[in-house]
Amino acid sequence: MSYRNGLARPVQKLERSLSVNSNCSSNNGVRPLVPSPPPSSPAPTRAKPVSPSRPASATGRRTPQRNSRYESGVSSRVRVAVRLRPRNAEEIVADADFADCIELQPELKRLKIRKNNWDCETYEFDEVLTDFSSQKRVYEVVAKPVVESVLEGYNGTIMAYGQTGTGKTFTLGRLGEEDIADRGIMVRAMEDILADISPEQDSITVSYLQLYMETVLDLLVPGKDNIPIVEDPKTGDVSLPGATAVEIWDQTSFLDLLQTGEANRFAANTKLNTESSRSHAILMVNVKKHVKGKGGDLILTNENGLGVHMSKGFCPPMVRKSKLVVVDLAGSERLDKSGSEGHALEEAKSINLSLTSLGKCINALAEGSSHIPIRDSKLTRLLRDSFGGTARTSLVITIGPSPRHRGETMSTIMFGQRAMKVENMVKLKEEFDYKSLCRRLDMELEKRVSEIERQGKLLLDVEEKLQERLEETKRAERNLESALEKMAAERARYHKEHIEVLESLENERAERQKMENQLQSTMQDMQHHREVFDPCNQLKSEILELKLQLDKEVQLRQQAEKELSALKSGLTKIESTSPEGQEALILSRRLEDEMKQRKNLEEEIQQLRNQLTQVTLQADEAKRIVSGRISFGSESHKSFASVNHNIDTSANLNTSGRPQEHVGLQKVLSLLDSADLDVRVHAVKVVANLAAEEVNQEKIVEAGGLHSMLMLLSSTEDETIRRVAAGAIANLAMNETNQELIMSEGGITLLSKTADDAEDPQTLRMVAGAIANLCGNDKLQLKLRDEGGIKALLSMVKSNHPDVLAQVARGIANFAKCESRGAVQGSKPARSLLIDEGALPWIVANASNEASPIRRHIELALCHLAQKDVNGKDLVAGGALWELIRISRECSREDIRMLAHRMLISSSVFQAELRRLHIVL
Ligand code: ADP
Ligand code: MG
Repeated sequence: MSYRNGLARPVQKLERSLSVNSNCSSNNGVRPLVPSPPPSSPAPTRAKPVSPSRPASATGRRTPQRNSRYESGVSSRVRVAVRLRPRNAEEIVADADFADCIELQPELKRLKIRKNNWDCETYEFDEVLTDFSSQKRVYEVVAKPVVESVLEGYNGTIMAYGQTGTGKTFTLGRLGEEDIADRGIMVRAMEDILADISPEQDSITVSYLQLYMETVLDLLVPGKDNIPIVEDPKTGDVSLPGATAVEIWDQTSFLDLLQTGEANRFAANTKLNTESSRSHAILMVNVKKHVKGKGGDLILTNENGLGVHMSKGFCPPMVRKSKLVVVDLAGSERLDKSGSEGHALEEAKSINLSLTSLGKCINALAEGSSHIPIRDSKLTRLLRDSFGGTARTSLVITIGPSPRHRGETMSTIMFGQRAMKVENMVKLKEEFDYKSLCRRLDMELEKRVSEIERQGKLLLDVEEKLQERLEETKRAERNLESALEKMAAERARYHKEHIEVLESLENERAERQKMENQLQSTMQDMQHHREVFDPCNQLKSEILELKLQLDKEVQLRQQAEKELSALKSGLTKIESTSPEGQEALILSRRLEDEMKQRKNLEEEIQQLRNQLTQVTLQADEAKRIVSGRISFGSESHKSFASVNHNIDTSANLNTSGRPQEHVGLQKVLSLLDSADLDVRVHAVKVVANLAAEEVNQEKIVEAGGLHSMLMLLSSTEDETIRRVAAGAIANLAMNETNQELIMSEGGITLLSKTADDAEDPQTLRMVAGAIANLCGNDKLQLKLRDEGGIKALLSMVKSNHPDVLAQVARGIANFAKCESRGAVQGSKPARSLLIDEGALPWIVANASNEASPIRRHIELALCHLAQKDVNGKDLVAGGALWELIRISRECSREDIRMLAHRMLISSSVFQAELRRLHIVL
């Protein structure tokens, strides 16, 4: 069947219970209708006078309440409310002269019924609803607790009992279409149920039936009549499998259903030719509600009867199935009053049978009878759970106010009073939702299986990757091994090569050393050769001789010319006389011969000059070859040779100098900055060689050579360059002009620094030589001292090399000589700067040095120092007096010996000291 909004649909059948819950195990059979054992708690306080028909024990028969709804039922008495209908129009008219026979005391929950004018009886109910009680209030006090209970999983029954026309249908079935305030219990109950359930997982099904003459009719599908009542032999649950169950999702479809039911009820009653008040209308609402299960161990039984243990913490889905039954009973009035006389007696009996039977059962339950006649009628069979069963039951008895129906009203009140004594054992109907559990487990199983498959695949993948990695690792290991082998071989090769390179370097070094030695000796040879066998020298002497000869010839010629003129004059005289004329002629011929001779001689001289030039060129060429062989490549040696040649040529032949010579020197000087160390070394050597010859010095200084040499001292790291540069400076420092230039260019500072840094004694010798030369300049004395020249000179004695010490001694002697010159010339007497600078101890200590050049210079220095009286005391204190005495006695050079002696005699300080010491010179 379909309904207006299409949401409601019939349910085929109630689901078969698949298993049992924990409650079911202790509830195998039908719940006995026998009331529960007497309660331990006292009965609720009731007002007096209590109806005599009501046994005192009835209110107190409650089973002790249990905490767990899973264990057993909770005692719950049938709740009864009485509702008084307001007077209707007829009663207002008909009973106008009579007072109502009913008086209600709702606050005391009491009802008074007048027996006669002077006597009335009072009855107490669970609720007393006055004629002006609203439908809302009626619902809340009568039905709402039951509906809530149903939503919690308990069965519930709401029933209206009363005389026809007292408002049973008004109370239960009003739809409230005109005024929603009129909505009855059925509509309001459904509203609450729909509001509570979850449409996604819960369900509500509704059946609407009519019981008339022991026949159950389906009010939703009119054709279905005589629907059988089925009782579950195990649980005792009563069901009507043949009844239509419509699934309800909203209020509208429910209202449609109720309307359909009412219409069908009306049609059925018309067909049966009866009134609706003769039949019972039964609305059955089945609620299935899912709740979350509790965690715990769960054992399920499989098909083979074996227990399947579910894990701890597993929460099976639970479903609560409960049923709300709303019964609008047939009118309770007697047949004769309700106008049923026209019906066949059998029918009348049948009509009453169910209601009578219900009364009997309630009486039996109220009295605690051992036999409850529930099987006597279909109504009692259908309501077996509502009275003395497991449902929470609420009964509303409806009465009218009219005294004319006092008997029916009294009978209704008594029914209600008895029903109040009926005790039910409400029980939670909760069971596993096996279908959803099954679905869930299936899904879980599928998930697990796919997870296991996935894990298996992953495992395979991982194994594969592992295998690959393993192979990669093996490959890498093999590669590593071969790489290590290669590395070892490479290393051995490199080691060998390294040793070879070291050896070849060593050889080269030895070779170089050898070459240097050879060069040294060649240079010495050259020097010697130049000095001794130089063809230039030979030629020079030859030229000199020729010059002398030429001069002689010139003189002879002049003499001859004089003689010639004398002869000419004589000839003139003689020509006048004959014998002398002859003689003059002879002389004239002789003269001509001599003139010829002279011319020949002049030509010879010219030839010799040419030869000399040739020889000089050859000598230079030889020198160039030697130089080139020592350390330079062909290009560089050519340029140096050319410079040497030019300079030497100019030195020897042309002192005026030519532009190209200057250019060559510039080139050499520019090579001092070359990136190639060898080139730099050679260039500085060339400059030094040139500087050794006085004739070149001016040109070198002009070309900036002195400046370059000074700069090299500070800039170079190379010992050879430093040594050679210092040597060049020492040579250039022989010239007074250059000395001043060196001082003005900060030469002392540079030389001092070189003295500090250098360890090579030859370098130190050069530096000491340079400073010694500067010491010989009178004008530079103070400046030399101020710029640290004396300190630098003295600092070099640490080298202890005789060559160095000789230069130091020479410097000191030079300096002392200049100072003594100052003293002689009468400048202001001041103590020697040498003494100021602390030179005296070294002078005294080395005055008798074994090396004669050192000793000689120191002896001279001491004599010069002694010349200044102002130095006298310091000389005495420093022990110099003894040395002077020794010099005056032992010095091999007489002039020094005499000088020392003179100093000792002339100095008053020395004289005093000698006297003091009783020394006689
Ligand atoms: P019943 O079902 O018991 O035979 P009804 O419910 O049909 O009685 O009520 C009979 C009449 O009384 C109706 O017209 C109904 O509207 C009216 N009636 C019943 N109860 C009340 C009430 N509490 N207030 C107003 N009218 C009522
Ligand atoms: Mg009715």
